Amino acid sequence: MTAILSETTKLRERIVRLAELLYLRGYVHGTTGNISVRTDEGIIVTPTNSSMGMLDPARLSLVGHDGRPISGDKPSKETFLHLAMYEERASSNAVVHLHSTHSVAVSILADTDPENALPPLTAYHHMKVGRLPLVPYVRPGDMRLADEVRQRAATYHAMLLANHGPVVAGKSLEDAVAIAEELEETAKLRLLTEGRPVNALTHDQLAELDHHFPS
Ligand SMILES: [Zn+2]
Repeated sequence: MTAILSETTKLRERIVRLAELLYLRGYVHGTTGNISVRTDEGIIVTPTNSSMGMLDPARLSLVGHDGRPISGDKPSKETFLHLAMYEERASSNAVVHLHSTHSVAVSILADTDPENALPPLTAYHHMKVGRLPLVPYVRPGDMRLADEVRQRAATYHAMLLANHGPVVAGKSLEDAVAIAEELEETAKLRLLTEGRPVNALTHDQLAELDHHFPS
């Protein structure tokens, strides 16, 4: 029992540490952004109205796999986004949702492709993020957003909510954070190269990556 508690404590400390790293890098501001990890006991998620830069491991929320609060502070109001991802993705054990500036900017641009919001500018973007659907705008708190995410979650581990921000799922906490970072940095590259001719990776180059690094 002691060993199990200790693993949970370590996991909570990793969530706090990675949330702080995202905060320090400017990927979250105010009380935006939320992280969750799926465990046997339920889903550990960052609390509502909390700064990702100042989380307390002991106060992280624990909710059941159906979203019912079990312990800790009140869970993020966006926990339903995380649940929608987990419901459709048995292989995903962590979800990161950000309002990161460059990704949100791409989600606002009128010429962003709703089928794939970011072009394959780099190999790492293709390998980590892949095709990135743009989820139509739904007002905060409207549960139709959960349906929109759920519809895409089986096929895509990363998606961009229009006028809102990215939601990504990973096999592990570190994996999900790395995917979210890759997505935000590619959004930054997309904006830095805006209005200039760009050599995105070709179909053959993408096929070569898929061959050498199958997902
Ligand atoms: Zn949000």
